[in-house]
Amino acid sequence: MSEDFYDVLGVSADASAEEIKRAYREKATEYHPDVSDEPDAEEKFKKIQKAKQVLTDDEKREAYDRMGHDRYEQAEKHGFDASDAGAGPFGGGAGMGGNPFGGGGMGGGGIGDIFEQVFGGGGGRGRRRPRSGNDLRTELDISLEDAYEGVERQFSFERPTECDTCEGAGHPPSADAEQCPECQGRGQVTQVQQTPLGRVQQTTTCRRCEGEGTLYSETCSDCRGEGYVRDEVTLTVDVPAGIEDGQTLRMEREGAPSPEGGPAGDLLIDVSIAEHEEFEREGDDLHYRLPVSFPQAVFGDEVTIPTLDGSVSFDVPAGTQSGETMRLGGKGMPRLRGRGHGDLFVTVQIVTPESLNEEQRDALEAFAEAGGDEIEVADGFFDRIKRAF
Ligand SMILES: [Zn+2]
Ligand SMILES: [Zn+2]
Repeated sequence: MSEDFYDVLGVSADASAEEIKRAYREKATEYHPDVSDEPDAEEKFKKIQKAKQVLTDDEKREAYDRMGHDRYEQAEKHGFDASDAGAGPFGGGAGMGGNPFGGGGMGGGGIGDIFEQVFGGGGGRGRRRPRSGNDLRTELDISLEDAYEGVERQFSFERPTECDTCEGAGHPPSADAEQCPECQGRGQVTQVQQTPLGRVQQTTTCRRCEGEGTLYSETCSDCRGEGYVRDEVTLTVDVPAGIEDGQTLRMEREGAPSPEGGPAGDLLIDVSIAEHEEFEREGDDLHYRLPVSFPQAVFGDEVTIPTLDGSVSFDVPAGTQSGETMRLGGKGMPRLRGRGHGDLFVTVQIVTPESLNEEQRDALEAFAEAGGDEIEVADGFFDRIKRAF
């Protein structure tokens, strides 16, 4: 909608006042409505004038650099002076749920700010890119089946959004404004600090007015003066097949909006996969425990076992030991990166019967005798079985 003032004049972000004035003279001559034939010359000329007016005024330029184009224009429109410090509602730490990765490390007076103050000569002459909005985090629960197939999922989360009522100003347009007495309207307070590099003047955002330089008689009732509200937003995300528990998906530019007219942050979606009743996952492989009876293990059997791709028949070889593991190639999870699937490992577990009917007991006694086993009945297995019936 609006053009950056540096672009309007065709100068770089760190152009000197001299360069800006020179560029202005050239552009002004080119687009002066009395001279130019271009249809929108007048509008362009006004933009050029405006750009020069802001960029050749040290205070205004500093505010412009700090706030970014859109916010600066908005601030001007709403009539508060350009010393708005831009430590806005969407800045440092406003992210949801603690947001350990939010803010790109620059929010709320972090190390970046200190270095800027120490090395940047107090505010810096060069233009800073408008800071992007905070990253937000949310969680998504899916099933192992979802992770196997890949799934498109709709989900909702809360995102700070500029308050419609006050257009982000935090107060009604009719509110009385007075200069903040704490910072004399500068929006910033300066302290001198002792650091390993010597005495450093540290400028921080005024706490009383939160950097606006102005106090208002009323606050917006819809956002309680914060300038933003939390909106419930519903989005759809593609969860790729093969995703693992604890992995994070990123949706670019779906995080918090930038307080300075920069790009929005990202939305990070932490995916958690519910435990499955039948399968245990280990990377791309799945593990399944197959219960078989003693005769099945002895004689072998063809059984049906579940996989995430439907049931398959499975041969229990004759003479299988309890705890033996067999591999079904390609029946595991799809590989997130790369082709194919992991494997399904089937661990056979021989189930010892907890009770026997009479026929089974006789057969088993006969089996033991035929094998020449001497079982001490008094304390042994058969005795216990007999007592159970
Ligand atoms: Zn103040
Ligand atoms: Zn509001």
